[in-house]
Amino acid sequence: MTALGDNGPTLIIGGGIAGAYLAALLGSRGEPVTVFDSRPDPRKASDAEGRSINLAIAERGLAALRQLDGVVDTIEQLVVPMRGRIVHDDHVSGLQPYGNLPSEVLWSVDRTALTNVLLDAAEATGKVEIRFGQRCRNIDFDLNLVSLSDAGHGDQWYQVPFGTVLGADGVGSIVRSEILELNGGSIRKEMLDHRYVELEIPAGPDGSFQMEPNGLHIWPHNDFMLIALPNPTGDFTATLFLAAAADGPSFAALESAAEISSFFEENFADFAAMVPDHVEQFIDAPLGRLGTIRTRGWSFEDQAVLVGDSAHGIVPFHGQGMNLALESASALNAFLLQHADDLATAFAAFEADRSDDADAIADMALENYVEMRDKVNDPDYLLKRQLSLLLGERLPDYFRPRYNMVMFSAIPYADAFARGDQQADLLAQLVAGCDTIDDVDLGAADQAVLALGPLPTTP
Ligand code: FAD
Repeated sequence: MTALGDNGPTLIIGGGIAGAYLAALLGSRGEPVTVFDSRPDPRKASDAEGRSINLAIAERGLAALRQLDGVVDTIEQLVVPMRGRIVHDDHVSGLQPYGNLPSEVLWSVDRTALTNVLLDAAEATGKVEIRFGQRCRNIDFDLNLVSLSDAGHGDQWYQVPFGTVLGADGVGSIVRSEILELNGGSIRKEMLDHRYVELEIPAGPDGSFQMEPNGLHIWPHNDFMLIALPNPTGDFTATLFLAAAADGPSFAALESAAEISSFFEENFADFAAMVPDHVEQFIDAPLGRLGTIRTRGWSFEDQAVLVGDSAHGIVPFHGQGMNLALESASALNAFLLQHADDLATAFAAFEADRSDDADAIADMALENYVEMRDKVNDPDYLLKRQLSLLLGERLPDYFRPRYNMVMFSAIPYADAFARGDQQADLLAQLVAGCDTIDDVDLGAADQAVLALGPLPTTP
């Protein structure tokens, strides 16, 4: 049986959100850790374009961050609250609130700013050393050596000894490849045939917002969509999701400036008016890929384990990848405490606890793509949503929209998924033949909801 540090140093490969957070957790309870990240230190690197790429943090991410003293207070200074959706269709809808409770709010935060806060928190423990520009190349589990290359020295390779490797090296994880070669595990990659580009809606005069700041903006178009999240600097980060190649609109079909310009004028006229250089931005923006990664076999004996996107990469349509990564890193820390003298058991218990939840949110994230681009302006969807919120208000212990269970609670993802299916069937029955909420038989609805039993609980 082995504890952290017994057989050599504890290394974290990857100092992104999951790696920096886990380092801070381990450091704060006195575990010495060295983090290696292939990129330069984001706290020193100059951002050439000065552009923010933001993420939505929800309750699960916040619950994890609350375990680090002062981190949420610092982050609160860097976020813009988003209280609901704003749909840009023939006209711009008002704010469609996410829920009835004041706590049902998402936070838009700059990815680099959040990572920097976590890197600072890790270093502040005095137990964490972070080495940037160091890329993990391979791992020798017989000799307990990690090979790395040093960007500062012509990518020269060197080796460091380890006792335990924590693989937080994202979707393209090297640690995962090394582990799966030895443990007989499996990986399933499902790449979407849609891609994305990120664009900036600049701030208006004097740093003012050009649109309502406290909402997540969506331009739904059935087969594609644009979304925009606010930044504290008055600008928005917009993301266009579109087929790579298709009979209809696609990235492949947008070759010339004229084609790009008419695509935006036709589909996102108000966006185009706010972003005079949208054609240039589109041409310059790198095309991102999207996919789901389901892994079985997250660990190798007592030597290595995966955490974050390296174990479970999901598509971004529920805004949960980072929230899942933080929740998983927090769970790993809890299992390491529970089985402090037996790393192999801690790693196995961690995967057993988290893999169904990771699969559930992976599925819900894929479903949410259809909901966001195709349903948010559909009358049947809007009626069901209105009824969901009403039932949640009438019977809060028995009904909560699935979206809200995922975003604003820590109910395990798999439980939220299963309960959401039951509720969806019920809503379909209750609105059948109804045009407005006044047509719904609320007495019968209450009885049916009570028959489902109380909502799943948080652990
Ligand atoms: P990463 O953030 O990818 O970090 C991995 C780190 O490992 C990086 O720093 C990298 O430099 C380092 N690394 C990689 N390989 C090596 C190596 N060989 N050696 C050393 N270091 C290495 N999630 C949300 O919760 N809300 C959102 O709103 C949201 N929006 C998103 C929008 C888009 C367009 C995308 C693509 C994702 C979005 N996500 C969102 C998901 C989120 O970005 C990820 O789930 C999250 O970043 C995972 O964190 P991680 O630390 O596991 O991986």
